[in-house]
Amino acid sequence: MKITDALLTPNKFSRPQIHLKSVKKIAVHYIGSAGSTAKNNRDYFEGLKDQIPDKTGKYCLNKDGTYMLYKGQRIDLRWVSSHFIIGLSGEVVQCLPLDEWSYCTNQANGYSISIECCHPDANGKFTAATEQSLAELCAYLCKKYSLDPIKDIIRHYDVTGKQCPLWYVPTKYQTEAVANARWLALKQRVAYIMGCGEVDKPTDSTVSYVPFKVRIIDEALNIRCAAGVANKAVGVIRGGGVYTIVEVAQVGSAVWGKLKSGIGWINIGDKYVKKI
Ligand SMILES: [Zn+2]
Repeated sequence: MKITDALLTPNKFSRPQIHLKSVKKIAVHYIGSAGSTAKNNRDYFEGLKDQIPDKTGKYCLNKDGTYMLYKGQRIDLRWVSSHFIIGLSGEVVQCLPLDEWSYCTNQANGYSISIECCHPDANGKFTAATEQSLAELCAYLCKKYSLDPIKDIIRHYDVTGKQCPLWYVPTKYQTEAVANARWLALKQRVAYIMGCGEVDKPTDSTVSYVPFKVRIIDEALNIRCAAGVANKAVGVIRGGGVYTIVEVAQVGSAVWGKLKSGIGWINIGDKYVKKI
């Protein structure tokens, strides 16, 4: 994992230079703007320095002193930043020194390092590359500050209840159990990277670290063009063998895995494969 330095210009809206006395938590976020890059978001934080506050300190003014408007409404001033942004290809950009506050995690700003993650889609799912860098960065920070990856890596959701990072919190698309299992799996991956030895497997079997290998135990297992039994079969695996799964999806009660070759998806339920 390579960290690119892109420190923000000191300014009261995104780099207030408040001394961060101690680091007790690592706070993980999702950017919210699907498809935006690490650089886009770093530039957005940087651009906040140009905000011109009105007398109340609540709204943005134009250079001529008139109120900046959006759809007829005054635009609020924003105080936003994060220590790190992880991009869609797993690139890590550092926006703030580690001994300064970010404006990212509300009441936790005074004791946390914040990490924003980019995501390609509105569902907030991180790419495999982003997730890998996130796990490595968290491992690095947990070691640096002697933190416990299971207890001390937190979601924005844990602080304020905000649905952030979206893929890892309960929403109308995912139950609390699924969200928590995803979150736990990520933290366990950090623990694994830190070399904490064996860690408990996630309790939700629909959540797995990818890639992983499976041994086919079904005699003739259909490969389908997409996850789900309703999709067209594009091949059959006969006679077992070991395959690498690079992505996992749940369809109804069945769990599907995408084959590394890219040819399609197989059901990776216990009846068909054995994880190895
Ligand atoms: Zn957040």
